[in-house]
Amino acid sequence: MVVNRPKVNNQYNLLAKVYSKQLEIYLPRTFISKFKSKSQISRVVTEKWAKENLFCPNCGNKIVPYPANTKVYDFYCSKCPERFQLKSSGKAFSKSILGAEYKTTLRSLRVGRHPSLILLHYDRDNMLIKNISILHRACITASCLRPRKPLSPSARRHGWQGCLYLVDQIPKLGLISIVNDGRVASKNQVIQRWQAARKFLEVPFAKRGWLADLLTCIDQLYTTFTLYDVYQFEDKLAELYPSNRNVKPKIRQQLQQLRDLGIIEFLQPGIYRRLHE
Ligand SMILES: [Zn+2]
Repeated sequence: MVVNRPKVNNQYNLLAKVYSKQLEIYLPRTFISKFKSKSQISRVVTEKWAKENLFCPNCGNKIVPYPANTKVYDFYCSKCPERFQLKSSGKAFSKSILGAEYKTTLRSLRVGRHPSLILLHYDRDNMLIKNISILHRACITASCLRPRKPLSPSARRHGWQGCLYLVDQIPKLGLISIVNDGRVASKNQVIQRWQAARKFLEVPFAKRGWLADLLTCIDQLYTTFTLYDVYQFEDKLAELYPSNRNVKPKIRQQLQQLRDLGIIEFLQPGIYRRLHE
């Protein structure tokens, strides 16, 4: 395919050198003229780029697009059962990302049918990829899904209720970076990080929220931390789970679970270490 390369400024020339050996960073421009609206261009161009350049983070094989107009899913893996939804934006992603209908999303998470989300941020002027992360479906729990206000009675779809993914309430383990401001992770790094996040799937969905919320607290600590450091989050966790009156014992039990999953290790009694950054 002939890619019509745009003129880019020095910053991007530098960036392009970093990327070029590992990943194609230019979005295809050759067929943009066929489409009119910005959102249409964004969708078509980024889908084409993802199809040609991204790989399945679970097994490293090719990802394949679903037929146009397929709901929820944009890509599936050619070799394993993983499925993905592509979210593209000309702006950096904020802490909350718009999701679909709330109850449908929650149900799809509960039954394990929710796709992982590919978050692709690109520079619209230069048609360059800036950041790509994958939000692992295992780490999207009920806690990080916020229902929005139902649409008003005057709206065409009145009563319809959307949701937001609260990215800052997802443990770092679940957000796997492929490109981060010019740094490209190797395929092996991506697959390793994916497998670490995947361990959350071993925990039933109803219990995954507590574990993810605790790990999000632990993310704020140094790599090596103590039980008393974790107890600092007792009030926050008690607020999230008002029916749980024994937060400290629950914290200790969840630390054991994180250890059993290989996400943290116990160094000495009351001293722990995160195994993944
Ligand atoms: Zn795969």
